[in-house]
Amino acid sequence: MKGRVLNGMRPTGKLHLGNYLGSVVNMVDLQEEYDCYFSIVDWHALTTGYEDTSQLQDNILSIAIDWLSAGVDPDKSVVFVQSNVKEHAELHLLLSMVTPLAWVERVPTYKEQLRQLETRNIATYGFLGYPVLMTADILAYKADTIPVGEDQLPHIEIAREIARRFNFLYQCSVFPEAEAKLTKFAWLPGIDGRKMSKSYGNEIHMSSTPDEIRTKVSQMITDPARIRKTDPGHPEVCVPYQFYKAFASNTEESVANECRGAKVGCVACKRRLADIIVERMAPIYERQQELKRRPDDVFDVLREGAKKAQIAANNTLVEMREAMNLRDF
Ligand code: SF4
Repeated sequence: MKGRVLNGMRPTGKLHLGNYLGSVVNMVDLQEEYDCYFSIVDWHALTTGYEDTSQLQDNILSIAIDWLSAGVDPDKSVVFVQSNVKEHAELHLLLSMVTPLAWVERVPTYKEQLRQLETRNIATYGFLGYPVLMTADILAYKADTIPVGEDQLPHIEIAREIARRFNFLYQCSVFPEAEAKLTKFAWLPGIDGRKMSKSYGNEIHMSSTPDEIRTKVSQMITDPARIRKTDPGHPEVCVPYQFYKAFASNTEESVANECRGAKVGCVACKRRLADIIVERMAPIYERQQELKRRPDDVFDVLREGAKKAQIAANNTLVEMREAMNLRDF
């Protein structure tokens, strides 16, 4: 039997190339091997962004378009918006009953985010409970495989603990314990060398036009010690070089040699990199333009996905209610 994957993405902005390589490429591969549930988790976006929801629907559409354009296939995977499957809310409520407060308080990202986002008022009931909501997302589909980066491991751990506690309390085996599947991908910095992030404005969007990609690449920080073209360069401290590694690993060695031997200038080197990225993203860009003209087709995919997800989540809830001795009259 195929394993089951749940992957959620928060619609807090447009996807960038770091998201593309770190997550979307992986999703496209996973759907060949697993039953995949790919969810745009809008309730999660509310946990930190409930005060301003004006961009929420634009962000949801943009993520759905980027996923579908990159090769997420609704015939192979269930693609849906979290809030369209209300079962998540009941699951969240029931699981919150059995989750000790100390478990959610000790999730490292909780205190970290409270600190990082101190300008926003996120000391809320909803934000504290987001690991339980995430657990509900996973357990709704009895997912056994969760693709995550290392920083997300504590969330998988708490999902496993909650599943175990539920099964123990009600002497049942309703929930499997999900395993984390660590994603391996080339690390991609922002154009200024810091982490690629919307909050730094240093990202290249998945939906950038070829011209926008070229402009961003031309602005990338290179080896600061290389002042003249005749100076030997140090590719390891150069942003374009990281992109070469991620987008054209076969050229990694020759680029490094040319750089160290001062055989190429940075302007030419960046121009060649821009060509590589533009060419790689071209088919995706074309499909994005097509889907932007037909948003109703995208909404149809999300609607159909929500129907399928609802059936699976409802089946889980039936078992859960029975285990907890809850009845519908
Ligand atoms: Fe970076 Fe290329 Fe310039 Fe070397 S030649 S510092 S790899 S942009």
